[in-house]
Amino acid sequence: IKWTEGRGWHDAELTPYAQLSIDPANMTLHYAQEIFEGLKAYRRPDGSVATFRPDANARRFQLSARRLAMPELPVETFIAACDALVQQDKAWVPEHGGESSLYLRPFMFANEVGLGVRPANEYLFIVIASPAGAYFPGGVKPVSVWLSENYVRAVPGGMGFAKTGGNYAASLLAQAEAAAEGCDQVVWLDALEHRTVEEMGGMNLYFVYGDRIVTPELTGSLLAGITRDSLLTLARDLGYGSEEGTITTDQWKRDTENGTLTEVFACGTAAAITPVGTVKSTGGEWTQSNGEPGKVTMELRRALLAIQTGTAEDRHGWMRELG
Ligand code: PMP
Repeated sequence: IKWTEGRGWHDAELTPYAQLSIDPANMTLHYAQEIFEGLKAYRRPDGSVATFRPDANARRFQLSARRLAMPELPVETFIAACDALVQQDKAWVPEHGGESSLYLRPFMFANEVGLGVRPANEYLFIVIASPAGAYFPGGVKPVSVWLSENYVRAVPGGMGFAKTGGNYAASLLAQAEAAAEGCDQVVWLDALEHRTVEEMGGMNLYFVYGDRIVTPELTGSLLAGITRDSLLTLARDLGYGSEEGTITTDQWKRDTENGTLTEVFACGTAAAITPVGTVKSTGGEWTQSNGEPGKVTMELRRALLAIQTGTAEDRHGWMRELG
C-alpha cells in the first residue's frame, strides 16, 4: 500500500514476493525513516488458522509511525493486509502440534528520493511472511545474559518505545559484546545510571517473586511488548499477582541470592517465553533457578502457547480467526 502527501493511502495490492528496486538516494537508506512489526499466525487443532493480537501490533505500529514523523496506517487497514497475506499463504502455516507458525513482518519506509533531512512525502507499507520453526527444537533451554553498561539502547526522549530499525542497529555492537562475554543475549539498562533494568535484546523481562511476577514499567525507552502485555493478564488468570515496577541490577543480584527472586524469564513473539539462566555483569555473576527452566516460567509458557495454538479457551479475544 502506498501513501502520498495530499492523497493518503492508495493502491493496495497483493503480489507474489519480488525484489524492490531502490533509488540510491532513497531517503530511508540515508535517514532510516523506517518502522516494522512482528506477529504470528498459528494452525489450530481443527486445521483453521488464527493470528495473535494483530490489533495490538496495529496500534503499536501507529505509535512508532508518530514518533518517526510518518503517516499512521488505520488499524483496520493493517489488519486487513495481514489477513489477506495469511489467506494467500495459508498452506505455509505449519501443522498444529508444535510451536511452529507463519511469521508476519509488516513494515513501512520513506519511499522518496532526496538528500535533505525531513519527513518524506511518500511511503510504502508492505507485509511479508515466512514460516518460523520452533524456537527451541531440542527443548526449552535457559539463556545467559550480559548486563550492558558500555552501551544503551535508548535514551529518555529518544525512540526506544518505537519499533524502528535504528534501535536494532544500535544493539548490534552490544550484542557482540555479550557474545564475547560468553552470553547469549544483552540486557539493556537505563541510559542515565545504568542501574534500572529495561529489557533484553528483542524480548521483555519478567521477574518471578514466588507467586507474584513483576515486569519493568514502560518508561518510554523500552518496547511495549505484546507478549509482555498479554502475560500481565494471563498470570492473573492463573492465580498469580502481576505488576509493573522498577527492578535494579543490585536488587536482581540481591534478591536472587536471598532466595526471594525465584525465576527470571524473557518474553516476545519469537520464542514466546524463554527462561533466563546465568546473569553476568561487571558487578558479578549469578544463576537463576539453578540454571533450569523455572516452574512458573514453564506454566505461563504452556498457557500462552495453548491459547495461541488453539488448545485453550481464548478468554480475552486475542485470536483473530481466519477460517
Ligand atoms: N523488546 C524488543 C526490543 C523487541 O524487539 C521485541 C520483539 N518485538 C520485544 C521486546 C517483544 O515484543 P513482542 O512481545 O511484541 O514481540
